[in-house]
Amino acid sequence: MKIAIAELKQESNTFAPLTLMEDFINFHYYTGTEVIEKLGSAESEIAGFLEICSDNDFEVLPIMAAFAVSGGPLSSETFQKLTYELYQGIRDCGTVDGILLALHGAMITEEIADADGEILEKVREIVGPDIPMMVTMDLHANITKRKVNNANTISGFHTCPHTDLVETGRRAARMLALKLKGDLNPIMRFIKVPMVVPASNQIDFKPGPYAELINKTKSLIDLGAVDASAFTVQPWMDIPELGFGAIVVTNGDKLLANLLVSKLAQIMWESRVNLSAINLIEPETAVANGLSHDTGPVVLSDIADGTMAGSPGDSTAVLKVLLGMKISKTVLVSICDPKVAELAEKSGVGSKIKTLIGGIKGWNFYSPCEIEGEVLVSSEMKYRFTQKGYHGMEIKMGLCAVIAIGHIRLLVTSLAASTTDPAFYRAAGLNPEKAQIVIIKSHAQFQDSYSNIAKSIYFLNTPGMSSDRIAELPFTKIDRPTYPWDPGLVFGPPYQLVNGF
Ligand SMILES: [Zn+2]
Repeated sequence: MKIAIAELKQESNTFAPLTLMEDFINFHYYTGTEVIEKLGSAESEIAGFLEICSDNDFEVLPIMAAFAVSGGPLSSETFQKLTYELYQGIRDCGTVDGILLALHGAMITEEIADADGEILEKVREIVGPDIPMMVTMDLHANITKRKVNNANTISGFHTCPHTDLVETGRRAARMLALKLKGDLNPIMRFIKVPMVVPASNQIDFKPGPYAELINKTKSLIDLGAVDASAFTVQPWMDIPELGFGAIVVTNGDKLLANLLVSKLAQIMWESRVNLSAINLIEPETAVANGLSHDTGPVVLSDIADGTMAGSPGDSTAVLKVLLGMKISKTVLVSICDPKVAELAEKSGVGSKIKTLIGGIKGWNFYSPCEIEGEVLVSSEMKYRFTQKGYHGMEIKMGLCAVIAIGHIRLLVTSLAASTTDPAFYRAAGLNPEKAQIVIIKSHAQFQDSYSNIAKSIYFLNTPGMSSDRIAELPFTKIDRPTYPWDPGLVFGPPYQLVNGF
């Protein structure tokens, strides 16, 4: 049996600047056998695909693996280039017996609101109706009719922070193996649930409404489902069909699939109010609280500038607050600004610089800020994720600098790198464990890696394009009514069921 495998992932935020080809190259972009060499033993869905294919003696035809850090919609040119590679790669495989695709599910382009749906439709056109295509997606995917209508199965992560990429890959590949042996007749059913909730509540490793939702989703397996996924959608896409998605797969049992997916849709809808409760703290209050702790680090998350949520990482909102306060203990903070990183390099270590920083990509959310400080470090930097999710994946930070402003250590990066792992600051020679306050830009993923060292965690009430105050962002294209924009919306059975391919 010949199985074509590929990955093409990016999570798009409508309000952020466009994502370009270089953003994929800066994260990862592999073709052919490189896909296996680079991702075969990494924390990835591809690793799960490969493991199950190997167990079943399938011949694997690796096409590509492209992944960019979350950002704005893809430029049309970038999307065309990447998808040409994918479609041509599949055509070049000749006849295949099955397809395994790892997509994000929340990718949009300048022109296409459902880029992953477009990909699935095109791949289906190429391989025809008889070739099983099993797909994995991030649980922040926006599931649409177009996606479901073209895939045999779609499986989403069961964790947030995401720590089950390999297992999700295995789930999809196991269903493909069973289908090819004639032991599975996958019946997939989908229901769109018209609701969106803040991202920082979407964590499952602590007890709470989100953990409950995930546990109830997984328990559908005990009731006879072969696979079940709660897609709780990342909220910053201004597109039609934005909302939660319930998906259940059964083995040949249409009635059971209808019943279980309806149950999941109902569980989702009933959780909307609890999942929407957010506790954001003004940065001045959070910094004062952080400084008053006996020991650090107190971790403050500037979620509205979350680089894993598409934001550019150049918000000055927190830095301005820090500069206006008396800071008596070490505070670590970061800003993405390639020009300032270059200036620091030119000025040299030990020199004093005075410059405007950040705020370039912030639209009207925030503006540049003036700083004056001493360059402590200047070099290219990168790190590898030490946390469970994405473990071992390399994160490039580009040319960086550390600037000392009193007790503030400002890490300036050239790329909007993920700040979710303490290894981010360690790459610059800074020690988050010994700092009093550590400022990061993440909703969920950091809550795994910082949980061992953070004395307290606060989510900041700051402006930005990945704010959790989603109803206040400038949405114009979403379907109405949708919760929370229409809090009085009534939603219930009979549900509109969408059938898988
Ligand atoms: Zn996600």
